Amino acid sequence: MGNKVFLDGKLVDREEAKVSVFDHGLLYGDGIFEGIRVYSRCIFKLKEHLDRLFESAHSIMLSIPMTKNEIENAIIKTLKANRLSDGYIRLVVTRGVGDLGLDPNKCKVATIFIITDKIKLYPEEFYRKGLAIVTVPTMRNLPETLNPSIKSLNYLNNIMAKIEACNAGCIEAIMLNKDGYVLECTGDNVFIVKRGKLITPPTYLGALEGITRNAIIECAKKLKIACEERILTRHDLFNADEIFLTGTAAELIPVVEVDKRTIGDGKSGAISLKLLKAFRAITPKDGVKYSL
Ligand code: PMP
Repeated sequence: MGNKVFLDGKLVDREEAKVSVFDHGLLYGDGIFEGIRVYSRCIFKLKEHLDRLFESAHSIMLSIPMTKNEIENAIIKTLKANRLSDGYIRLVVTRGVGDLGLDPNKCKVATIFIITDKIKLYPEEFYRKGLAIVTVPTMRNLPETLNPSIKSLNYLNNIMAKIEACNAGCIEAIMLNKDGYVLECTGDNVFIVKRGKLITPPTYLGALEGITRNAIIECAKKLKIACEERILTRHDLFNADEIFLTGTAAELIPVVEVDKRTIGDGKSGAISLKLLKAFRAITPKDGVKYSL
């Protein structure tokens, strides 16, 4: 169990890891975060995660009180303290403590914390059998409102979609944009396979540029599987040969049913499983290594 948490420059016990009720991360969801995986003492794609964190911060004019290097060292220190060689890292930066008004200028210093823990993935059989999922009424935020490229602490939009998925007896939901085009899931990107080719929605429509998504595109290139970013409709989903989701926690998980339509032959697809294997081969290598 991870029992030390990095909080504002110090390692503290899990029970002592508390933030103020005046923190704007809590009061307004004013903050940003990253979810990162560790595989065999390798922090997978750490550079990419830190770049995305700093881009989110720049966009919301949040000054992170540590450099990328300092954050990297703090992550390693936390992993070492918890003796973790495999697990999940939650890196969070909030606007910090302010007053009850919205004004972020009243928050003098950002709050930064790093939680590391073991991760409980979907059971292995889900990867073999695949998921049944639904499309839901809650749309993804418009890029013109809260841009989904900002990985903010404001996840209510995704939580609404998750509730709708749970109400339908599913564990994931496909979210569409205002025109009904497919964007992504509540915490994962989505790909289809059609006639041997990989297709995923373009991020400019309002999907997060997932680090796993990009890693899967890299794997596809190496395997000479063509990949295209283009607009997808529900019809495209229903008639895909294969569908899979990608994300830091899920890695790559096949989907075999969408809105009660069977996808392909109703089994995890061959290309999906080939990509999952290729992805799992790079995870313990492609990142920042440390020793315990
Ligand atoms: N979309 C959303 C909305 C997410 O929250 C996440 C991960 N948290 C993803 C996609 C997948 O991104 P990544 O591969 O970087 O984890």
